[in-house]
Formats: sequence, structure tokens, C-alpha cells
Amino acid sequence: MALKTFGYAAQSASSTLAPFGFSRRDPLEKDLVIEILYCGVCHSDLHQVRSQWEGTRYPCVPGHEIIGRVTAVGSQVTKFDVGDIAAVGCMVDSCRQCASCKDGLEQYCERGFTATYNGNISGAGENTYGGYSQQIVVDERFGLRIRHPENQLAAAAPLLCAGVTTWSPLRHWGAGPGKKVGIVGVGGLGHMGIKLAHALGAHVVAFTTSTAKRQAALDLGADEVVVSKNAVEMKAHASSFDFILNTVSASHNLDPFLELLKRDGTLTLVGAPEHPHPSPTVFNMILGRKSLAGSLIGGIPETQEMLDFCAERGIVSDIEMIAMQDIEKAYARLLKSDVKYRFVIDMGTLRREV
Ligand code: NAP
Ligand code: ZN
Ligand code: ZN
Repeated sequence: MALKTFGYAAQSASSTLAPFGFSRRDPLEKDLVIEILYCGVCHSDLHQVRSQWEGTRYPCVPGHEIIGRVTAVGSQVTKFDVGDIAAVGCMVDSCRQCASCKDGLEQYCERGFTATYNGNISGAGENTYGGYSQQIVVDERFGLRIRHPENQLAAAAPLLCAGVTTWSPLRHWGAGPGKKVGIVGVGGLGHMGIKLAHALGAHVVAFTTSTAKRQAALDLGADEVVVSKNAVEMKAHASSFDFILNTVSASHNLDPFLELLKRDGTLTLVGAPEHPHPSPTVFNMILGRKSLAGSLIGGIPETQEMLDFCAERGIVSDIEMIAMQDIEKAYARLLKSDVKYRFVIDMGTLRREV
């Protein structure tokens, strides 16, 4: 007997999301059953629903910025009680034994972590279903604690991906006082990158293609804003950055950003576009011993660290709440970079239509 539930799924790369009935596993000893209250809408959801990356399996129920209430716990659960608020991010399992898992970096699990949606269920030959749904069953090891007040829960949901995906590289590359940090793209990830880099004490420069976002980026915590299409504005920052985090969701020329790094600086890519970026010019890297790097979401301990940091400082995402039925309209706006700055689905609007 499995738990019958429902959500919204795409049945193919060209179909729109629609109501879908499916089952969750019956809770195991260490499992939580979470009734989902809110789920953020990440650009990765759109990439995967449309099969812009390799390997989307259908039906695809997206969603990996999940906050909800625990409705049942297995007999061996120690971290959560029924009634608690719990969250789930981009992963629901990993091997737990490899060096990466032991280091709390489950996203780099050597056997591959189980993604919250479109992930392989070990041994079962099935794929996982994500947070655009009524409930989720997860091992408590992959459940996160949210210490924000109830009225901030919806706005805390995007921390589960947009928050930790920017937090992890900012911490790894030492963003903090005395460091000049660039954040490229003022979208879901980018606006969290600005807030977090600012809170960590770095001097933050936001890069946007949109002049209309100039003031907004300052309001989010940027010390300066550069319109990246403006060569004069870009040149004013030549060879001055310790670290630049690039969150852009589309392929573009990386050279103008490599030129802004100082000696030994790093440009880290988190944006994961459908098509590759053109190769950077080698001279932009060898002159100044610069690094081009990448970073994937964040491990469970660093996700909890980021959530607690944000709760202490009252940091949440700037969100637009939507009904489940409006997801396709939200995707259309996401493609135009027309969202301030994260859509969050109010799961109370999900009605049984299946
Ligand atoms: P988003 O809200 O759509 O933000 C992307 C931003 O990129 C836009 O707001 C826009 O900023 C900029 N942009 C879009 N098209 C552009 C273009 N053609 N040229 C230059 N800039 C452009 O998306 P998101 O949810 O933040 O996700 C961003 C990317 O990160 C996606 O590819 C997503 O899949 C990826 N991602 C990666 C990880 C990871 O672990 N590495 C985790 C989550 C998401 P401006 O308007 O300010 O220019
Ligand atoms: Zn995401
Ligand atoms: Zn592992």
C-alpha cells in the first residue's frame, strides 16, 4: 500500500503541466511525510520540464524548494515531530558512504545523489517526483529545519535551492569583508546571491542586462550595479574582482567577466544553460592566473547552516506568490526574466483534479 497523492506533471517536453495522480512510498522507519505548503519555482524546473538538459524522464513533477508541515513520522525518526515545519531541497538521498557524503557534500556523491525530482529511485527503476504536489515522503536526513516565523515560510522556500546554490560557492571562495564580489544576473539565484554576499560582508557588485533592475539591485544590498551590456561601465571595473558568481540561465560570452577578475580571481558558473557558453579566450585566463569554476547546489549541513544564518538575520527571498494553475504563465514570464525575484506556488491552491 503506497500513499496516494497528486500534483502537477509534464507528460512530455512539449506538453504543459497538468494535474497528475501518483503514489509516494509508505513511510519507512526514518521517513517524514510532509504536507507541502509552498514550493518555489526554479529555472531548473523549466529547463528539465522542457528537456533542455539531458535525461528528463516523464511524467516529470518538478519542484525542489519545498516547505511544509510534518503529518507523520516513522518509528526511528528523531529530528522531527508531527506538526513541525520541515523543508526539502534538491536532494532526497545519496550513498552516505563516499568521501563527499562523509564531508557533508552529498551533491557531489560519487555514486550520484538522488534528485528530489527526475532522480533515480535506487533499485526501483523509477524516477522521483518533486514539490509541485500535495505531499512528499523523505528520509529525515534530507529534511531541513526552518527557523523563520510562520509568516515568512513562503518567502523562505527559495532558500532551499536559490539560497544554498549561491551560499555554497560564496562560502567556498571566501566572500566576506575586504572581498569584491560580483553577482551576474539578477534573477532567482542572483537576487539571493546579492543578499547573501552583502550579509557576509563583501563589497557586492550586481551585473544585470536590464537597466530597469538597477535600483532594485541596490535595494537588495548591492553596493554598485553594472549594466553588463555597457562596455564603459564594465571597463571601469577591469581587473578588480576577487570572485564573480555567474547565475545566468542562457549561453553568453564569459570573456567580459573574466577581464574583471584580478590576479588569482575566480569566475564560478552556477547558471546551467541549455546550450554551452562560447569558450573563453585563453589569454584572459593565463594573464592573471585566473580560474573558471562551477558549483552545484549545496550539501545538507551547509543548507542548514544557510537556513539558520538567514533565520537569524531575517533574510528571505523576494517572492511573487502564484496559484498552481498559473504555472505555465509563470514559466512564460521566467523566460522573459520578468519576476521579482522568485515565484512561489501556494500549494493550498492545488486541488484534486485527477
Ligand atoms: P532566473 O530567475 O530566470 O534568473 C536568470 C537571470 O539570468 C535573469 O534574471 C537575467 O538577469 C539573466 N539572463 C537571462 N537570460 C539572459 C541572457 N540571454 N543573457 C544574459 N543574462 C540573462 O533563473 P534562476 O532560477 O535564478 O536560475 C538561473 C540558472 O541557474 C538556471 O540556468 C538554472 O538552471 C541554474 N541553476 C543551477 C544550479 C546549480 O546547482 N548550479 C541550481 C539552481 C539553478 P538580468 O535580467 O539581471 O540580466
Ligand atoms: Zn533549483
Ligand atoms: Zn556518496
